[in-house]
Amino acid sequence: MRIAMYGGTFNPIHLGHMHAATAVAESLRLDKLLLMPAGIPPHKVLPEGSATPAQRLEMCRIAAGYIPRAEACPLELEREGASYTVDTLRALRQQYPQADLWLVVGTDMVLTFDRWRQPEEMAKLCRLAVVARDEQDRARIAEKAAALWESLGLVCDIIDCPALPMSSTQVRETMDERLLHPAVLDYIRQNRLYLPSPEHLRAEVEKRVSPKRMAHILGCERMAAEMA
Ligand code: ATP
Repeated sequence: MRIAMYGGTFNPIHLGHMHAATAVAESLRLDKLLLMPAGIPPHKVLPEGSATPAQRLEMCRIAAGYIPRAEACPLELEREGASYTVDTLRALRQQYPQADLWLVVGTDMVLTFDRWRQPEEMAKLCRLAVVARDEQDRARIAEKAAALWESLGLVCDIIDCPALPMSSTQVRETMDERLLHPAVLDYIRQNRLYLPSPEHLRAEVEKRVSPKRMAHILGCERMAAEMA
């Protein structure tokens, strides 16, 4: 059995994630690709207005329907405290003792691999599937992969996958629907996620209209609020 774990905040999962996941599933001929939303990510604090863990998991479930052999996995959300990848890999290894197990990472992650929690242990538990954006990226990864093999005995498989230039931050800030799968977008709309704040909306409108029109719009806003 060939299994890969693709972890992230997925706040929300976007087309860039889905494109990379598809490339990994196909090039490694996976039997299972686990989309694993992180519970409390050790490296970042979730911004205000983020989706809840259950909603991030649900968006991964929806997206998994459009990625070959993918499924959403709640393992990190069910565990108490910070999510460390090494703990997740241990749990997966227990569940699938005979499987070939990969951890999917981007270039930045592989370059800083030595600073993750217990990299020696991780090297025993899995291989890395590193998503390379272009030739230059591939060269940097290959160099680092050789060093990781020397120091930790870690095996890296490089997956060629021109990344789609987008991030979840960009999705949250712009709600540009071209960055999302339509089914994920539907879920976001139905659950009223990532709504812009009134301050953000005012600032955006101000950029687009004359000062005279802005004063009129603010007057309408005040009047509407009074009437409501
Ligand atoms: P944020 O903007 O909130 O930091 P993000 O878009 O970087 O989020 P994460 O959930 O942090 O998304 O990413 C999960 C994994 O997906 C990470 O390994 C990250 O490197 C990778 N990733 C993020 N964006 C892309 C993309 N456009 N193409 C391929 N992989 C990506």
